[in-house]
Amino acid sequence: MITLDTKPELQTTNVLLGSHMSIAGGIWTALERGKKINCTTIQLFTKNNNQWLAKPFSEGEIDKFKAETEKSKIAPLVAHDCYLINLASSKKDILEKSRNAFLDELIRCEQLGIPYLNFHPGAHLGIGIDDGLQRIIESLNWAHEQTKNFTVKSVLETTAGQGTNLGFRFEQLRTIIDGVDEPERMKVCIDTCHIFAAGYDIATEEGYEKTMKEFNSVIGFENLVAFHINDSKKGLGSRVDRHEHIGQGMIGELGFRLLMNDKRFAHIPKILETPKSEDMHEDVVNMNLLKSFID
Ligand code: MN
Ligand code: MN
Ligand code: ZN
Repeated sequence: MITLDTKPELQTTNVLLGSHMSIAGGIWTALERGKKINCTTIQLFTKNNNQWLAKPFSEGEIDKFKAETEKSKIAPLVAHDCYLINLASSKKDILEKSRNAFLDELIRCEQLGIPYLNFHPGAHLGIGIDDGLQRIIESLNWAHEQTKNFTVKSVLETTAGQGTNLGFRFEQLRTIIDGVDEPERMKVCIDTCHIFAAGYDIATEEGYEKTMKEFNSVIGFENLVAFHINDSKKGLGSRVDRHEHIGQGMIGELGFRLLMNDKRFAHIPKILETPKSEDMHEDVVNMNLLKSFID
């Protein structure tokens, strides 16, 4: 937890940098919150993230969101899907609920004009990696089949590999992309905490280069559309997903310095998912620190 005696200074930036924003009070308020602390990109849930389904948006809500998007100039926007969804589930009822909820998430993004729907691939819950990946592929095909001509991309997030969660190796994401009927609808998001916990050592210069090289050869930088910028409470290869403030975790400053200065990723949105309070001062501190890393 970051504690402060004084309010952190708000800085403007031309870097694509932001944070996950609450939608409490209406979907458009995420943009207002982002603007308030000078985010140039944000992530948001398009509904309560602990519920399977939500009331469809009214036309008024959609209009307001679009007007606010334009006014704020915050772009790109990234939606994160609801935590209940498991596209790999071996339980029939959960799988069905997950697929319906994922379809609904795609529809909500398309309505709001959000280009990216970030999601965790899924947890196989004991059926094994290969069968789990296969189930994810089938789930995506089912959802994509019903959303032909949608522009929103389905963005696979790298995971820490906690429990039976899939997506902790770049190869697993590649298997999913290769397996779906419409691979052009798939993109990838790197979560720095997750890949570190999964065993990709981005804390050293050598490890960082090796990891990015591996990502490029397995996934390809052209498929990378976002970073989740989180330090990790837990160690390299711990397979435990616990986010920490930038520079205060096991990744430490160097890994983020390398990332912020990496010209290959200058155009990729970088979004914080670190703990924060209602006034968002922790985001301001973390964003200022990340900006200060840029040479
Ligand atoms: Mn996530
Ligand atoms: Mn994440
Ligand atoms: Zn996480």
